[in-house]
Amino acid sequence: MKRIVLALGGNALGDNLHEQMIAVKSAAKAIADLIEDGFDVIITHGNGPQVGMINLAMETAAKFDEHLFYIPMSVCVALSQGYIGYDIQNALREELLDRGVDKPVATIITQTLVDENDPAFADPSKPIGAYYPEDEAAEMIQRGYDMKEDAGRGWRRVVASPKPIGIVESKTVLALLEAGQIPVAVGGGGIPVKKTEGRHLKGTSAVVDKDFASAKLAEELNADMLVILTAVEKVAVNFGKPDQQWLSEMSAEDAERYIAEGHFAPGSMLPKVEAALEFVKSGPDRKALITMLSKARDGLAGKTGTVIH
Ligand code: ADP
Ligand code: MG
Repeated sequence: MKRIVLALGGNALGDNLHEQMIAVKSAAKAIADLIEDGFDVIITHGNGPQVGMINLAMETAAKFDEHLFYIPMSVCVALSQGYIGYDIQNALREELLDRGVDKPVATIITQTLVDENDPAFADPSKPIGAYYPEDEAAEMIQRGYDMKEDAGRGWRRVVASPKPIGIVESKTVLALLEAGQIPVAVGGGGIPVKKTEGRHLKGTSAVVDKDFASAKLAEELNADMLVILTAVEKVAVNFGKPDQQWLSEMSAEDAERYIAEGHFAPGSMLPKVEAALEFVKSGPDRKALITMLSKARDGLAGKTGTVIH
């Protein structure tokens, strides 16, 4: 029995409510295949468009009703975990029951511990939600938000993207797994919290990269493999250039060299390869696979995808 953390990328969830329901149904089929193959699966996922939508809805509501509060990013991430988890629970449970597999699927609202001294807090750079004209951006800066002008398209809110240092609910995830259930966890990278005086964990205005959070969870669960599912079947060097070359595997040393040579785009493939590396280096016999959802079964059978070892 192999324990695998499946990190679902944006294309497994779609960009809006309707797309999400359809995308999750087809994701459920691919995930059910892996469960039928005998893998112990933990599902994690991104939340970019969803947390943007929730944040915009909350901002708009607060603007029109003075009795409503502005909802912090940590709460928006929590809401997105619930909403996405609901769709996954609903679709995957149905797909499994259709196949005669009686395994419950449950979402764990997950907090991700970050270090308050993480250098990312000094340079918030992850754009969140809608574009705003300059006057509205100025008003948001007054309210304490960090805003950045985005290549002539308007102003966007930016938040810090600190590294995860621990997953608060990983023991709960493990308990579900050991009971033969399918956990959905660290959605959107988890709700970022930092330690304060005493035992209180305080939500922070930040977002954690879902690939790094998935790697941390995989590490804490002692998983065999971190499977990062995205829009491409394999990772390439010289991506998008005439001499592009798809990779079937790379050692940790290869990956470090390719990173230094700038083969992976920041904000898309780079965090995936970095997250894969963190997991692979966290213990012996730990491997990572980067491929697309529809190729996950073949990838796990060693037929495609890029294995980092
Ligand atoms: P996700 O939503 O799954 O996180 P992203 O769009 O953030 O997906 O990242 C995946 C994308 O990274 C691919 O679709 C591809 O366009 C891009 N990419 C950048 N560099 C590379 C590379 N070296 N090899 C493969 N894909 C790359
Ligand atoms: Mg991404």
